[in-house]
Amino acid sequence: MIAATLALTFVGSFAAQVNALVLKYTVDSISDLMVAGEPLSRGFYLLGTITIILLSKELVHSIVQFGQKFYGEKLRIFITRDISQTIVERILTYRMEFYTSNDNESGKLQTRIDLGISSLTRLVQNFFIDILPLFANAVVALALMFYANFYVGLVSLCIIPIYFYISQLQANKLSGFRRRMRMYRETKNNSILSLIDSITVIKSFVRESLEAKRHQDIQFEMTENQLATRKTGFIFESIKSFIEQIGVVFIIILTAYFVLNGSMTIGAIMFHILLFNNVSAPIRQLHRIYDEVNDALIYSEGFFDILESEHQKETSGTYKPEKIKGLIEVIDVDFIYPNGTQALTKVNFTIKPNETTALVGLSGAGKSTIINLLDKFYQPTKGRILLDGVDLKEYDTDFLRKNIGLVLQKNHIFKGTIYENISYGNPNATEPDIIEASKKAYIHEQIAGLPNGYQSDAHLLSGGQQQRIAIARLFLKNPPIIFLDEPTASLDAIATQQIKKSLDAIKKDRTVIIISHSISQIIDASNIVVLEAGKSVEVGTHDSLYKLEGTYFKIFTAMVNSLNIEKITQTIE
Ligand code: ADP
Repeated sequence: MIAATLALTFVGSFAAQVNALVLKYTVDSISDLMVAGEPLSRGFYLLGTITIILLSKELVHSIVQFGQKFYGEKLRIFITRDISQTIVERILTYRMEFYTSNDNESGKLQTRIDLGISSLTRLVQNFFIDILPLFANAVVALALMFYANFYVGLVSLCIIPIYFYISQLQANKLSGFRRRMRMYRETKNNSILSLIDSITVIKSFVRESLEAKRHQDIQFEMTENQLATRKTGFIFESIKSFIEQIGVVFIIILTAYFVLNGSMTIGAIMFHILLFNNVSAPIRQLHRIYDEVNDALIYSEGFFDILESEHQKETSGTYKPEKIKGLIEVIDVDFIYPNGTQALTKVNFTIKPNETTALVGLSGAGKSTIINLLDKFYQPTKGRILLDGVDLKEYDTDFLRKNIGLVLQKNHIFKGTIYENISYGNPNATEPDIIEASKKAYIHEQIAGLPNGYQSDAHLLSGGQQQRIAIARLFLKNPPIIFLDEPTASLDAIATQQIKKSLDAIKKDRTVIIISHSISQIIDASNIVVLEAGKSVEVGTHDSLYKLEGTYFKIFTAMVNSLNIEKITQTIE
């Protein structure tokens, strides 16, 4: 496609000079005819020839233009498709760190990707439709000018560097504005997203006007920046148009002089003015081209930063054992989040296969961080984590995650049917498999009772039901290791009770780590690891830890007291 576009540009750049040549020939021939007093019929013959040449040229020109536009557009569409796909494929391979970093909040990331793609593709399109043809025309026109008269060629050549210099000044002046503009756009988009996210809090604290003011400040700064950009742009445009006119005046004076001294025919005046027009056309567009190239550079900077974050790629070992037993040993593990928060210090514990271990600790103690490390979302800063005696680093990351199931406080239910949501656990699952998994998660009957059954919209389900869909998804995946991170925290008592059976079912014969604030789920565990401010302070069974009268004792007693057991017992009795 590029070759075809270049060939068309080559033909087009010659076609563009035809008008100037024809005009020169016409003026010279007519003045000759007039001087010689030739009959009118010779003049008609001349006009006929010119008409045919001009119309043929116009025909060629239209075909060339169509071809250039079509191929330019085709290139743009293909490039947009390819880079949009590449960026999605690329960021999917990045680590958790990339997604949790402040620079990559979803709104900012989206804007940066969208602007990057649109400015890059616009550049490609303009290059083939505008920039390349204009510059090719200019080079051919300049060559013709030099060929016709060296001095006139020199005058138009001299204008070019002056123009370049001024356009560059303009571009430099504007680039600061542009960078700021990009920042404003990202922040603005992001602030609207966060507004929507926090609307309940904003309304309950009646902070609407405060938020509006905050938004207004960004808006006003943006306006000021925009106005300054426009003003600078207009000033430079006036300067450039003035310089171009000086060029035209010089050429008129110079060619008139050569006509008068007899070294040029009168047709050459028009000839040179038209050619100079071809030379200055791309130069007139130079600032726009500069703008677009600059836009593309600035916006694509952010885009390529994302595309080329090789260091963000997840690392993977190659170890893939035939079967995972589920013995997890955490040895002297320290972990510092990329933002500098030290979440774990010298954590030590062992988790036996096919047992349920509860992680207990106050909020912020580092429980979820441990799950993040065990799932290889992050790497320990210090220390080692072994699974069945092999360092997690050695494991093939995809293989490891295929063997781990994760149930969070609130599991993501994708837009779509219940069937699609469950089959996310195993895309190859058949309908009987899905029904079987739902039965194990104790949700089949409720789904079957819905008017559209498994084809109902999954978002219509209640929190407890959605949680069981997530568990059914896990039954399909059937991993030997399961992490449950406060699986019932967002559910009411009835839903918690209903989900208990599905949780018990999924825990059977698997290595399970559960984070929970529910006494019953903690007592149910065969082993308990107690964390306090990022340190593992106690490990053991419920009875042994209770007797220790340490951290676990304190947390457990607080939980029991909060239940108001006395009153409960009285009521039940
Ligand atoms: P828990 O699950 O016990 O409530 P977490 O493991 O979530 O505790 O958090 C432990 C510490 O790490 C807290 O101080 C928390 O602020 C910090 N933390 C958690 N996630 C991140 C993150 N993505 N980036 C930076 N710090 C984090």
